[in-house]
Amino acid sequence: MIYRNTPIYSGVFKVWTVALAFTLFPLTLSADETATATSADDDSIVEIESASKTQTLVADPEAPVEVDPERIKKVKETKKPVDKQVKPKAEQLEPFMMMEKSFAPGVRDTVFWPVMINSLQFNIPVIVAHGARQGPVMCMTAAVHGDELNGIEIARRVIYGLDPEKLAGTVVAVPIVNMEGFMKQQRYMADRRDMNRFFPGDPNGVTPARFAYALMEMVIQHCDALIDLHTGSFYRTNLPQLRADLKDEKVARMVTRFGGMTVLQSAGKPGMLRNAAVAMGIPAVTMEVGGPLSLELEAVEFGVKAINTFLGELGMTKRLSFWKAPQPVFYESQWVMSNHSGILLASVKLGDKVKDGEVLAEIINPVTNAKEKVKAPYAGTVLGMAVNQFVSPGFVIFRIGKETTESELRDEAIKDETEAARATTSKALDKMIDNEERPAGTNW
Ligand SMILES: [Zn+2]
Repeated sequence: MIYRNTPIYSGVFKVWTVALAFTLFPLTLSADETATATSADDDSIVEIESASKTQTLVADPEAPVEVDPERIKKVKETKKPVDKQVKPKAEQLEPFMMMEKSFAPGVRDTVFWPVMINSLQFNIPVIVAHGARQGPVMCMTAAVHGDELNGIEIARRVIYGLDPEKLAGTVVAVPIVNMEGFMKQQRYMADRRDMNRFFPGDPNGVTPARFAYALMEMVIQHCDALIDLHTGSFYRTNLPQLRADLKDEKVARMVTRFGGMTVLQSAGKPGMLRNAAVAMGIPAVTMEVGGPLSLELEAVEFGVKAINTFLGELGMTKRLSFWKAPQPVFYESQWVMSNHSGILLASVKLGDKVKDGEVLAEIINPVTNAKEKVKAPYAGTVLGMAVNQFVSPGFVIFRIGKETTESELRDEAIKDETEAARATTSKALDKMIDNEERPAGTNW
């Protein structure tokens, strides 16, 4: 089962092999002691100084990762065509190939991607559920940031909740992409760089670029759609939500299949996994669920339900979606910052609808007892927030999604990007309504 003879990361010292069981979370919940956030939140703004100064991809002969071009070539040759059509006859089904391992129809199994970390070999598990019926390949990645645990549990629940014999298509899960960060309970890789700024990667680049390149070659290129699972970062938490660039029509159609999960327009940043996937023609979203270093089971269950809805909507599983409320879509959002230093005491919670000028929190100076009231800049919904803690001036506390109506958008001539995203979503929705047939294959 263990794929170990032709590793993408080859090395002389194959001393130790570790296969991780996902049911084990031997983690002591503690703060990330190394990274320094200069700004706020999840995958959009946090950056570490050391990374931003050295982000240029330069071949580094000392870097521990080597890539075997022959193997990459071999893997490329085994890639399934993206434009395959649905073939309902079971006898036409072929095994699914990944990393030279063959998965028979109706089977769930694991292939291990060997990586060398400090001269020791670790195996990053890639779990595949290959359905007995034809259909698309849906991929999930989690823990690209090593301290984000909710996504690991979401991926486990989804892939082990499937019955491959009843599945149409293939579901692929990489529950722990950033093994280095995961083992250290840290967001970044050991070199303090953010892997999610280095996609699609470079086989001759710095360590995270090499990992990114290998992930794209080994896994992502096989996918017809990608859900990259994340959480807020550094003592911040996010309402379960999809971040997606709705200007891309395939992405705009994809997000409408997640039931009632909130959608936030986000163009993303260069180097992000979802941007790299979309650039390859693979529709991709980031699913943000909760905060780092914790397992928030209610939020996890919400994420699982949304992904299962997605699989049902694609016809990969039996359709089962019961969502009470329609899906909120936010085309704009803004961060609210502190202007003073002190202890943050929030008076709202994730998902709350707030009015223009409503008090969201107080920041209280522990020495002088002076209080700053933090107010909502406009009416909206709390999509992300910091947990109560000591803050400094300029600390990003709340992310408020702005609720805009069609007429407001027209009247205020809100920036082109927002309008373009909205227009694409409407068009995608119209198409879905026009075409009552369940989508098949890669017809997003
Ligand atoms: Zn993340």
